[in-house]
Amino acid sequence: MFSRWRERLRHTLGLRIALWYAAVFIGSALALIGITYLLLAASLRQYDREIIQTTLIQYVGAYSRGGVDALYAEMQRTQAAAQGPLFVRAVGAGQNVILISMPEAWSRFDPSQLATPPLSGQQRWATLQSGEEGPELEVASVRLRDGTLFQVGQSTERRRELLARFRRVLLLNFATIVLIGLAGGAVLTWSALGPVRTLSQTVRQIMRTGRTDARVPTQVDPDALGELGVLVNAMLDRIDAVLTGMRGALDNVAHDLRTPLTRLRAVAEEALGSNDPHVLREALADALEEADRVSAMLSTLMDISEAETGTMALSLERTDLAEVVKDAIDLYEDMADARGLTLSVTLAAPLFADVDRNRMRQVLANLLDNAVKYTPVGNRIEIAGRPEGADVVLTVTDSGAGIGPEDLPHIWDRLYRGDRSRSERGLGLGLSLVKAVVEAHGGSVSATSAPGAGSRFEVRLHMSAL
Ligand code: ADP
Repeated sequence: MFSRWRERLRHTLGLRIALWYAAVFIGSALALIGITYLLLAASLRQYDREIIQTTLIQYVGAYSRGGVDALYAEMQRTQAAAQGPLFVRAVGAGQNVILISMPEAWSRFDPSQLATPPLSGQQRWATLQSGEEGPELEVASVRLRDGTLFQVGQSTERRRELLARFRRVLLLNFATIVLIGLAGGAVLTWSALGPVRTLSQTVRQIMRTGRTDARVPTQVDPDALGELGVLVNAMLDRIDAVLTGMRGALDNVAHDLRTPLTRLRAVAEEALGSNDPHVLREALADALEEADRVSAMLSTLMDISEAETGTMALSLERTDLAEVVKDAIDLYEDMADARGLTLSVTLAAPLFADVDRNRMRQVLANLLDNAVKYTPVGNRIEIAGRPEGADVVLTVTDSGAGIGPEDLPHIWDRLYRGDRSRSERGLGLGLSLVKAVVEAHGGSVSATSAPGAGSRFEVRLHMSAL
């Protein structure tokens, strides 16, 4: 039972903070009250002793000047002004009591028990108990040169009563402080943990419904905890975007796989109805082509995913991008020639960057492949490379068909193909791979194009330090 409560307490952060707050608040108040009480008790004691001391000096002075008569006169004079009854006793050198003045109520004190100063001129303080809990008699004694012992004292009763009353007041104050501490701790914790409560409500709602469109309500000017809500919202936005992207990509893959698989099925069905070895051979070749297409699509999709999630193994090395550009041009020169396209290259060599040479070759090959595919016969393609600040910028510009404004925002999406591009071979994955690979290198890509005015693709990478 006890351990269960302790366990609950451990998990109830709010209660723990409230109790800590209350404990610190009450502890400090207790310390303050304690110090105040001790200081007051000490100063009251000091005050009482000062009165006793002054009276003793006055009485000794009077006695020295005019003997017992003068002492009586002095006592008459001072008793009237005194704050309360005083104990006065004078004992001669021969132990004869010269004078004793003590209220009736103090008869329980036995003055003969008082410790006395042995030598003349000496003064000492002594206290007489009146029982276990009762007040004390605080006495100052002095022995005169002629051996007379003078004692003046006062009961601590008045002081004790005053302190008892003060203690009662302090107890009342303390009870109020405990209440304020507990209530203050609860209110403070409740309001401070407000953002955490709304945060857990939102998270619980997402877990219950499985929908990521719930958002944490945020304040206009968020504090540190409120900022957590803003961050969680930003994270949810990102998760939402990734999930939407993944759902879209999955739909596209399912859709785009259906076409080659249907074709594959049709080829196989047609072949089954024929005995002609030539037709059968052709069907097998078609099936192989379709299988290759599916396989290429899947492996490119895997590459894009790896590059986007940062799991693509890149063997980065300081590379002159001018050489990579030349390699890609070697690959497409013949095809461009065959289509009657002019390929021009402007390279401000050397252009060093830390890249995976093969992946970068693939990036340029994809851009060049598109430029050649979508540029009509007789047009030109320009490839340029130049340093710009701390970057290396590579551009592939063609004077081809261009891209319409409705297509331009989507060309980097997986499996997206412009309507007018359907006649050309392709999977709609080339630019997605370009973007994923360049971004995996810490770079960026962009495209500017207008229908009929050609297209310009730009790849920007960090120049490698020398
Ligand atoms: P695809 O396999 O269709 O070429 P990409 O991802 O490489 O796939 O390109 C996506 C789409 O962007 C293409 O279908 C095409 O509509 C458009 N596109 C890409 N490059 C060019 C270009 N140089 N000129 C005109 N359109 C282009």
